[in-house]
Amino acid sequence: MQIDVLGIPLEGKEISYQEDPEAIELSPELSFQGPIEFKGTLYKTDESVIVIIVKGTIEARPHLECGRCSAGFYLPLRIEFDQIFVPKSQPRPVHHKNADEKRKNRRAERGKPDDVEPDEGEEAELTDEVFYEGSSISLDETIREQVLLALPMRPLCSPECKGICPVCGANLNLSPCSCPREEEKKMTSMQKAFKEIKRKKGEE
Ligand SMILES: [Zn+2]
Ligand SMILES: [Zn+2]
Repeated sequence: MQIDVLGIPLEGKEISYQEDPEAIELSPELSFQGPIEFKGTLYKTDESVIVIIVKGTIEARPHLECGRCSAGFYLPLRIEFDQIFVPKSQPRPVHHKNADEKRKNRRAERGKPDDVEPDEGEEAELTDEVFYEGSSISLDETIREQVLLALPMRPLCSPECKGICPVCGANLNLSPCSCPREEEKKMTSMQKAFKEIKRKKGEE
């Protein structure tokens, strides 16, 4: 969606809209439950050079496959981000940081509680600059990038997912199987070790 930037007042302008994931070509392999939702505020830094700062939140529910039990599920994502848009006609010096490092920082940033505001130095590192032409910006690319970056490397249908038994292949979320568990084996050997220590102490 194109957002007109000429009408943004200096105090900022709040916008929110929904986007069809297919319309912004999010990813052919990903399907979503419902639309992608964007909610945020657009600011401009001053009247002459229209640098637009977008502070927003993206909500999306991608369909993922659990890394433990292979069950399909929808993961509710809530992504907070900042993005700076610079007019192409008036480029200004841009500090390009290593992209991988930036991603790492972002992932680390996600782990923080929502009420913790990054300090100014930190924020500068997390912010990318995007060039725009004419009098409108599009958040499509930003939304695409933010959603793909937010996808977990190993999605879990639930933090308590018990996974699949490596021996018999049973889905342990549905019912337990009778195969000995790794942890139990470990416990047993630990218990044996304790017994051994006790026995030796008793002999002393
Ligand atoms: Zn699972
Ligand atoms: Zn089993």
